[in-house]
Amino acid sequence: MARVAKENGATVLRGGAFKPRTSPYSFQGLGEDGLKYLRQAADAFGMDVLAEVMDDEHVEMVAKYTDIFQIGARNMQNFSLLKTVGQTDIPVMLKRGMSATVDDILNAAEYIAAGGNHNIMIAERGIRTFDNKYTRNTMDAGVVPVLQKLTHYPVIIDPSHAAGHTEFVTPLALAGTAAGASGLVVEIHDDPAHALSDGTQALKPNEFKDLAEKAVAVHDLLFGMDEEETDTEPQTRH
Ligand code: PEP
Ligand code: MN
Repeated sequence: MARVAKENGATVLRGGAFKPRTSPYSFQGLGEDGLKYLRQAADAFGMDVLAEVMDDEHVEMVAKYTDIFQIGARNMQNFSLLKTVGQTDIPVMLKRGMSATVDDILNAAEYIAAGGNHNIMIAERGIRTFDNKYTRNTMDAGVVPVLQKLTHYPVIIDPSHAAGHTEFVTPLALAGTAAGASGLVVEIHDDPAHALSDGTQALKPNEFKDLAEKAVAVHDLLFGMDEEETDTEPQTRH
């Protein structure tokens, strides 16, 4: 999957070695072994690693393997964890809590920044609304320009957890891209039917290729080529 990600322009390989599953009986992740696999796969393709950290006591250990911490939606207001990652210099992708207001997100980010770590990205992954029968969550595309107005933090869209179903992932990714998101984080799997987590929303390699091509086309149409991209490797648009 690292090869597929890289071939389609991704620069960061995300995987969850510690999984915040809604049920305690669902697959909980491979722990430190999973982080080793992730690091190895990313290194093989010259990619950075993004991995979730769920508890204070794991911050130091996860830091050995990851380039970016993910704070999951369920931990967005785990203030102790936010303070701990705030004391590191490792970039943090902070996922919006499923019922978090914009002010809740800003305050959560502030807990990280207050410790001295200003390398923060905010990820919109869909919120709970009155109708989540057909999509897993409701993607709030509006939060992209709002956060861009209120903060300097890059806003990332996670269309996978918003959609919940493969067929809706690409349209949401494109909506987030059009709204001005700085990046997308997308779940991919070569055999989604047998995925241990979130298989219903995983894109197969050919589906991810299609998403990536369309997202780049939308980005270039609306925002043109970033200045830094004209003379360096593409970095910011995937
Ligand atoms: C995830 O990113 O794998 C995840 C569990 O997402 P969220 O915290 O947004 O539910
Ligand atoms: Mn997931």
